[in-house]
Amino acid sequence: MNLLNLTRSELERLCTENGQPKFRALQLTKWIHKKGVQDFAKMTDIQGAFRDYLGRKLNVHVPKIIQSTKSADGSEKWLFKLESGEVVESVLIPENGRITACVSSQVGCAVDCSFCATGHQGFSRNLSLGEMLGQVWAINYMANVGRVTNVVLMGMGEPLLNYSNLKEFLKYLLLDEAYGLSRRKVTVSTSGIVPFIDRLRVDCPVSLAVSLHAASNELRNKLVPINRKYPLEQLMRACRDYQDSAPRKFITFEVVLLDGVNDSLNDALAISRLIEDYGVNAKFNLIPYNAFGGGTFKKPVAEKIKGFQIKLQESGHVATVRKTRGDDVEGACGQLSGIVNNRISRVGSREKAEIAGLF
Ligand code: SAH
Ligand code: SF4
Repeated sequence: MNLLNLTRSELERLCTENGQPKFRALQLTKWIHKKGVQDFAKMTDIQGAFRDYLGRKLNVHVPKIIQSTKSADGSEKWLFKLESGEVVESVLIPENGRITACVSSQVGCAVDCSFCATGHQGFSRNLSLGEMLGQVWAINYMANVGRVTNVVLMGMGEPLLNYSNLKEFLKYLLLDEAYGLSRRKVTVSTSGIVPFIDRLRVDCPVSLAVSLHAASNELRNKLVPINRKYPLEQLMRACRDYQDSAPRKFITFEVVLLDGVNDSLNDALAISRLIEDYGVNAKFNLIPYNAFGGGTFKKPVAEKIKGFQIKLQESGHVATVRKTRGDDVEGACGQLSGIVNNRISRVGSREKAEIAGLF
């Protein structure tokens, strides 16, 4: 059994059921997440007999890194092979003294946004707590660039549809004995799963990014199909409620700019009005569409992107354009793992490990 899959209270129970004090759980957490130690034998302040027991019954298993690709902009895309043979991506972004880990929460994604390579894979399964923690652990202790300072859930999958694991994952990110990050340095990005935005606000209000993309239900229904279930009126209400609990008192709105679809000045104005109508403090993160095989959209030309940004700024909003990361290597997030996972799902399980093992 992988110890990384145990929540804090499960770990405490494991300790007390074996005659250990509750605080042993925090000592174990510290060894694993704060010091990067996987071998129980090296955890010198844990009683010897309990260390032996842990060594017999458990391990600290981190998904295997099967490929690491460095981009010209300094970011690194890592491919992790899970025990199921499937593959997920994480991105390590060193910038201005920060080390940001962009992690995945699911294999594939059921939301199926029309412009997204992960969505095109379909949904396979939720990542476990250990698989999510394993990505951060690996970047922290295996990348040789220093400690992770920020975590964003902007890799593969819809984090709020893996809520119970996400919640426990966030708790470890914030826990001093683990990663000790402040709530403002942890960002959950969502396509707009309204009931879970409300739950996150109460349970663990970290920074929130909402993938907005359009100001009308008509267009958003096409781009983000979950909008039919949770339309803009509900989403904006949830954002307004969230911002009072948010660590930075604003919500980040991501807008993937698609040529001729949502990139006109009128689109920018409509988005700006929507935010104002609901009294939400917004920061915009404009993401030029990242093309991938199978995608039918086009990235707008640079002037169009600039014009959109300026329109939002003139309307009084903070708007930045995200550098397209790793354009030179793997393109869109989910693209590379999509190629691998599609090959895996087309063949029988016997061959799964073999194919992932090609790397
Ligand atoms: N499921 C969550 C988080 C993962 S996607 C969400 O949708 O927010 C992270 C971001 O990548 C989202 O803002 C999403 O809209 C964006 N994205 C997806 N496919 C993209 C593509 N092909 N080009 C640019 N951005 C993309
Ligand atoms: Fe899922 Fe996010 Fe991709 Fe939409 S953009 S399919 S929610 S990962």
